[in-house]
Amino acid sequence: MGVFDKALALEMLPDQWLVGDDKCDCTFQRIGEWGNPYIGKSLQVRLCCIWAELAKEYPQFVQEVDCYWDRNLIEPVMGAQPWDSEEMDMPLDIWYRQLASEQNRPLVEIREEYRHKQHLRPRKTARGTGRESAQPDKHEVRHAMLNRLEKTGWRRDDAIATFERRDREERDAQARH
Ligand SMILES: [Zn+2]
Repeated sequence: MGVFDKALALEMLPDQWLVGDDKCDCTFQRIGEWGNPYIGKSLQVRLCCIWAELAKEYPQFVQEVDCYWDRNLIEPVMGAQPWDSEEMDMPLDIWYRQLASEQNRPLVEIREEYRHKQHLRPRKTARGTGRESAQPDKHEVRHAMLNRLEKTGWRRDDAIATFERRDREERDAQARH
C-alpha cells in the first residue's frame, strides 16, 4: 500500500470506539474488542447496544433498579452520589448520566443542554477527602463479607466461626515469626 493510499485508508476509518466515548445512550457502555496485528484486522462490538435490543426480547432476565448495589457491602445505596475522586475530574459520560439520573430526564436532552455548561462539571476533590482516602476498617469489611456469605447460603454462625479460625491462624503465624 503506497503512502497516499495509506493516508486515504486512514481517513476512511471510522472512529475507534472506547468505553466512555458517550457515542450511545446506554447507561453502561460496554465494548467488545478483538484485534490481531498479524491479520491486520480489528473487531469492535458495541455490546451494550446489542444487549439493549436483546433485553427488549427478554425483559424477564433484566433487572434495572434505581439504586447502586454496593458490591462490598451488598447493600443498596440510594440516589446518585457526589463525585469524590481525588485522581480526576468527573468523566463527561458519567456526568451526563448522573445528571439524567438526578433530574429524571432523558440522557439525550441532558447531553444537549450540558455540553454548553462544562464549567459545572465536578472537579477532582482535594487529597485526603475523596473516595480513595476512605478505606473501610476491618469491622466494616467483616460486616460486608458476612452479608455476602449469608446471601449465598452460609449460616451466620458458620461464617463467624470461619472468620475466628482465620484470625487465630493469622495470630499463630505472626507469633511464629
Ligand atoms: Zn450502547
